[in-house]
Formats: sequence, C-alpha cells, structure tokens
Amino acid sequence: MTAGTDWVRNFVDGRFVDPNPDKAFDRIDPATGQVLSRVAEADQELVDCAVVAARTALARGWPDTPVRQRTELLRRIADGIEARFEDFVSAESADTGKPVVSTRTLDVARAIANFRAFADIVAAAGQESFLTDLPDGTRALNYAVRKPLGVVAVIVPWNLPLLLLTWKVAPALACGNAVVVKPSEETPATATLLAEVIRDAGAPNGTYNVVHGFGSDSAGHFLTAHPLIDGVTFTGSSSTGARVMATVAPRVRPVSFELGGKNAAVVFDDIDVEETVAGLARSVFTNTGQVCLCTERIYVQRNAFDAVAAGLAEHAASLRLGDPRRPETTTGPLISQSHRDKVLGYFRLAEEGGAKLLTGGGIPRLGEELDGGAWIEPTLWTGLANTHRVMREEIFGPVAALVPFDTEDEAVELANDTDYGLAAAVWTNDLRRGHRVAQKMRVGISWVNTWFARELRSPFGGAGLSGIGREGGESSLHFYTEPTNVCVQL
Ligand code: NAD
Repeated sequence: MTAGTDWVRNFVDGRFVDPNPDKAFDRIDPATGQVLSRVAEADQELVDCAVVAARTALARGWPDTPVRQRTELLRRIADGIEARFEDFVSAESADTGKPVVSTRTLDVARAIANFRAFADIVAAAGQESFLTDLPDGTRALNYAVRKPLGVVAVIVPWNLPLLLLTWKVAPALACGNAVVVKPSEETPATATLLAEVIRDAGAPNGTYNVVHGFGSDSAGHFLTAHPLIDGVTFTGSSSTGARVMATVAPRVRPVSFELGGKNAAVVFDDIDVEETVAGLARSVFTNTGQVCLCTERIYVQRNAFDAVAAGLAEHAASLRLGDPRRPETTTGPLISQSHRDKVLGYFRLAEEGGAKLLTGGGIPRLGEELDGGAWIEPTLWTGLANTHRVMREEIFGPVAALVPFDTEDEAVELANDTDYGLAAAVWTNDLRRGHRVAQKMRVGISWVNTWFARELRSPFGGAGLSGIGREGGESSLHFYTEPTNVCVQL
C-alpha cells in the first residue's frame, strides 16, 4: 500500500474498495517531490456507502456491546499497531517527510497510547446521579445514561495524521459509535493502514470506514453534508472549520473543532537561559513548526532578550535538515510546495515590515535528491509590531518572531492580543508568577517551563478562532455520547 505505485484505497464496510483509475490523485513525498503512489478518491456514491455501512453497524448492535468488549478491541488495536510499528513509521514519514526519529517517538507512539488511554478512560467512566428533593416532600432519583452519538464524521489534517486521527477514533469506538474518517489528501497512508489493523483486531464491519479525497466538492464536503451523520469532529485550519460549521448548521449536529493557533511564549528574565532556549527551540521547530501548538510569538523580558535571541538563533543553525530516513536528521521539509509558497509569502511580508532577520529566511540547498522537496530554512525575526500580519496570522512553519517586554502585565496583554487561543507557554523560575501568568492566558492549554507535555485525561481544545469544545478524558466521552436524563420518583 505504501510502496512504489501501489494504491492507497478506500475502506468501506470492512473491505478495501477497488480503485477507479479515473478518480484518483497522486501521493507526493514532501522531501523529494516524487510521486509515491496513487490514492483512490471517494465520490459521493462511495461516501454514501460508507455512511450507510456505519449506520448498519450501529443497527447490528455495536452500541449495545458490553463496554469490556469495546475496550478490549481498543487494546487489540493498540497491540496491532505495535506489531506493525515500523510499517506505520515508514508510511507516516513518507507522507509527511518528517524524520523517522520523530515518527517513532511521537506519532506512532501516541497512536498506541491513544487507544490504550481511552480503553482505560471508558472502562473507568461512571455516570452522574442526583437525589432530588421534590416540593411535596418526596424524592426522585435522577441519573444520566450516556448513549453513543451514532455515526461520527472524523476529518483530520496532515501535520500529525495518525496521532490526531486516533485521538478521535479511539474514544468514538470505545463509546459505541461508528466512524467515517476522511484523512488529509496529503497524508492518506496511515489511516488506511489502520483499517487493516482495526479489521484484523476484529472490529465489526462498518464501524471504521475511510474515504479519501479533498474538501470542497469532494469527500470532505460529501461527508460533512451527509444527512445520515450524527456529529462531526474536525481538526484543521480555522477557515475550513468555519466552512464545515456552515455545512453542518442546517441539520444542527454537534461539532468539535480543534483549529489553528498563533501561540505565544512569555519568557521572564529570571530563567536559566540555556534550559529555556532548548525548550523554546523545541516549541518553535518541532515538526518543522507544523504543530498547531507550536510557538510563533516569543515575548522576552528585556534583560534576557539578547541572550535568548542569540541562543535561539544558534539552536536554529544547529538543526539538521535532510533525508527523513536518516537517524541524525532533526528537521524535515514542509508538507508541500503550496504550503512553502504560503510560508515564503510571510517571509516577504516580514521583510517589507522592516523585520530584522536573526537567522534563516530562505530555501536551503540540500543536494540533488532533495531539491524537489518543500524545504525551508528555520527562521527567526525581531522588530515586528504586534499588529503586523506576521504576528497575527498562523504561518505554520519553523518560524517565530521575538518581541521584548518590560512588565508582567504588558507580557500578558501582548500574549492575549490575538484572535486565536490555543496554547501558551510561560518560562520563569518564579513559581507564583508561573501559575499566575499561565492562568491569565486566554487559551485552551497553558504550559509552565515546558511545551507539548500532554495528559490524555485533560481537556484539550482552544478558545477564539482556535476551536469549539474540548476533547480528551471525560470531555471526549461527553462529545462522543448523548446523555438521557432519567428521573424516577422514589
Ligand atoms: P485544512 O483545514 O486545510 O484541512 C483539514 C482537513 O479538512 C483535510 O482533511 C481537508 O481535506 C479537509 N477539508 C478541507 N476543506 C473541507 C471542506 N470544505 N469540507 C470538509 N472537509 C474539508 O487544514 P490542514 O492544512 O490540513 O492542517 C493545518 C491546520 O490544522 C493548521 O491550521 C493547524 O493549526 C490545524 N491543526 C489544529 C490542531 C488542533 O488540535 N487545534 C491540530 C493540528 C492541526
């Protein structure tokens, strides 16, 4: 499936669908620009089949299977991914261009953890109940039974394809739903490989379906506009999220949106510079800056500004761009040429806006084989006002702009001066200040002296343009189920 000119196929009702060569697109290696394979695009009819297969799986009793049976399925899926660990690593690295070292430690490891964590979370879940005093002096027992939402459309982006997909599929299946997933057109392979694992783990036909394609006028729209879906969980850009919301609105279905970010780091001058620079660098350059949680704005207290700027520039220069299959490679390419064009557009905007370039700002030359890839230099700027577009719009590349501040209040104001609200990181050695500032951030997740440390039982999501709702732990159980309050007169 992942090598040569093999097909990446759709998976519907427990079976891979024969591809139609006239309805297909190329799967491109972002590191070289070479075609890896063809991907079968799902048309309206196939999306209909997938949604009907999911409905049928529900009608055949999947929601009524004992919780233990569903959580054991999740554990078998985790074991199945583990057994094919290197297949997932090479498929994910080929699709995204990310170094195999990261794919191993982050993407595939987290996919396994997602299935195991949600097996635990669902197995341990309780339910709310209240004894209610009624006006006539008697009592009633109120309790809520949580029932699966039904058929859930799962739409995910290309930056952490398997991690984000399994973050949704695991709780959805554990709660007794059936899913139709639409991976990004850029990264179709691991969702498809997962279909083999889920099938072999014994999931009933129709509980997990994969349809490939694009957004508008393609599988993404066909799926979200489908009258037989019961909810949509979407991770992607804020503008696409808004479009999906409009598509779903007429049928008033629940949505969960994990969207873009323009995340700030606030660095106080009491820090240990070396340690903080290492953490900051990770938050800017991980996955070539293509993590929704990546830092793109760095506010540094004036006394520490020069040391932090110099340290970060040095770190950027030490990153090793190159063949993602080599173990020493730290940094891969951007996902595509069109994404690189977008990032280069911001390079021009920064220059026009009078930014001072600390490092980067161009396209690296890495040797013949990689010249066709979407490579870009890790880039840092100073000298931009908070109102500049580079400071306000999500760039989604290995970039950040540094701005000095004097007081704590000023730092909080600068960090919160954004339409987004996904993540923030506060770097300080003052414990009280760390808590205080982290709590003032208008974001879904606020780290102190760390970044991207994740607890899967915690609520995850964003404020403002960064999303609607939360997933993770109980929040996932709330999204993937619909409660019925039963009230019994005692
Ligand atoms: P995107 O919005 O372009 O695409 C996301 C998915 O939506 C893809 O599968 C795409 O095919 C599909 N899609 C596009 N148009 C659609 C439509 N009209 N109807 C239905 N589906 C449609 O995003 P992207 O470029 O793939 O990913 C990068 C973005 O994702 C960034 O903005 C990033 O911040 C965000 N992101 C957010 C989180 C989070 O947890 N908040 C995590 C990862 C990525």
